[in-house]
Amino acid sequence: MASGQITVTSPLLPDLEEFQNMLKEIWASKWITNNGKFHRQLEKELANYLKVPYISLFTNGTLPLITALQALRITGEVITTPYSFVATTHSLWWNGIKPVFVDVDPITCNLDPSKIEAAITPKTTAIMPVHCYGKPCDTRAIQEIADKYGLKVIYDAAHAFGVEVDGKSILNAGDMSTLSFHATKVYNTIEGGAMVMHDEQTKKRIDYLKNFGFANETTVVAPGINSKMDEMRAAYGILNLRQVDLAIAARQKVAKMYRDSLRDIDGITFFDDMSGVRHNYSYFPIFIDAGKFGKTRDMLYQEMKNADVLGRRYFYPLISEFSTYRGLPSATRENLPVAYRLADTVLCLPMHHDLSEQDVMRVLNFFRK
Ligand SMILES: *Cc1c(COP(=O)(O)O)cnc(C)c1O
Repeated sequence: MASGQITVTSPLLPDLEEFQNMLKEIWASKWITNNGKFHRQLEKELANYLKVPYISLFTNGTLPLITALQALRITGEVITTPYSFVATTHSLWWNGIKPVFVDVDPITCNLDPSKIEAAITPKTTAIMPVHCYGKPCDTRAIQEIADKYGLKVIYDAAHAFGVEVDGKSILNAGDMSTLSFHATKVYNTIEGGAMVMHDEQTKKRIDYLKNFGFANETTVVAPGINSKMDEMRAAYGILNLRQVDLAIAARQKVAKMYRDSLRDIDGITFFDDMSGVRHNYSYFPIFIDAGKFGKTRDMLYQEMKNADVLGRRYFYPLISEFSTYRGLPSATRENLPVAYRLADTVLCLPMHHDLSEQDVMRVLNFFRK
């Protein structure tokens, strides 16, 4: 008998008692923010875990995007994907930059490198791709284009925590990468985020920028923002980092159960693991061919919702369809046929560390013939 709600995601929570012990330490120290002990510790541990040289913590995953554009002095036009969460494009808008949408590749859902060059104009200064669902972009092809035209590359890697290609982190691609540690993500600090960079100089500059531009007590070197992570969330993050591998392993098991059962269902497609890639199983998107499956995506979505099984239409609508962006010349259906097709047929199934086998069976019941 079905009972209880199955949500699309569920936050990875640290052990409450261990967290309380760390809170006691913070209380005793009275150092609650501004590059405190736990902040420094988490930066070190994350750089280590993620196999990146430098990382700077932020209060969320949107401000590092906005700050990266500031730090690299990006202006004019930036080429980006419409198939993402709105924050990607909003970060451009907050910097007075015009987004230029380029279509995505149906195999990866990521920016299609073969379509980037046609969208470059004299005003183009950067490319902002997204590793959608944590699936790695074709970083080499993107870098070749960027080098040829003298463009910067900022990766929105909000989905790509811990993703590696041939044993190397994909967070090292491009000029900078940004992460989100929001409650809904594979790894969370409640709200939180980070920026990954290649050198100490840039790390220093980013640390100034996230603290109003202060280089020392009396020197402000740039019009910075305030986006510092506090000690409570850094402590929470330290604890969650210790269990994130177990959470990813649990997600992998869920993905395997989904794949084993859905492989033979007519009209349903999904992604398999890519060879040489360490995936994080952050999402489980399926794509529904209504003609073959016998139901549209929205019918299935509603049917599941009525039974308290919550899927998410990630990413529908496309960013380019929102009122802020739909008037842009690149925001048309003709320019973005693949993105539209994905957005119209995608449904992300419940995917998190806490799904039981019974929960997964309950989801899969909607696909029985
Ligand atoms: C979650 C997310 C963000 C924003 O991160 P927040 O921490 O919620 O600000 C940005 N881009 C993508 C692709 C995301 O999924």
